[in-house]
Order: sequence, then structure tokens, then C-alpha cells
Amino acid sequence: MNPIDSSTTPRDIGPTEDGAALRILWEDEHESVYLPFDLRMACPCAGCVDELSGRRTLTEAMVAPSVHPTAIEYVGRYALKFVWSDGHDTGLYSYDLLRGLCRCDECVAPSGSSPPS
Ligand SMILES: [Zn+2]
Ligand SMILES: [Zn+2]
Repeated sequence: MNPIDSSTTPRDIGPTEDGAALRILWEDEHESVYLPFDLRMACPCAGCVDELSGRRTLTEAMVAPSVHPTAIEYVGRYALKFVWSDGHDTGLYSYDLLRGLCRCDECVAPSGSSPPS
């Protein structure tokens, strides 16, 4: 048995070859690529999500399309903290959250039958 959850343990974190996105290779060999704008929009901090209702108060109009991380810090063993080019730095992105944000074909493929919206 594996003492760690390989699906939420990053093996390698870094920019993609073109530098336009962030790539995370997970211990289970899964590769996730994140666009900076999408990551910024997914910020889970109290300034971006209403703590009482859980609703996102951050809107796309509030974020520059060119937003990008100026620094990435490891927080313990469970999360990353991004310092964004707009000065925002209060969001902690747990590896659970990041894995859940993966948009690769495998992760966005509909599981079972979902009703049309
Ligand atoms: Zn935030
Ligand atoms: Zn994926």
C-alpha cells in the first residue's frame, strides 16, 4: 500500500515549454496543464469566494486576461500559493483542488450519463 495519495501528490511542477501555462506532473503519472487565468479565477480565498454562501464573488471582468503568477510558493506538503501579477496572493491552492481543476480529456470526460443542461 502506498502511504501517500499519488493522485494529489505532485512529482514535478513548472511552466510548460512555451511558458504560457503551468504544468503539474502527479505521482500517478497524470499530467495537468493549467492556464494562469483559469487558476486565478479558481482562487479559493475569502476575497474571491463568499465564505457564507460559498459563491464566487470574483468575476472574469475583475481579472486581467494577462494575469500570471510572479511567484509560486510551496505551503507545507499540501498546497501551493501563487503570487499573482495583480498583487493577489491570499489563495492557497491545495493539491486536492488543483487535481480537481485538471481539464484534460480524461478528467473532463463525462462520467456515466449526465443530463443535458
Ligand atoms: Zn483570492
Ligand atoms: Zn487530468
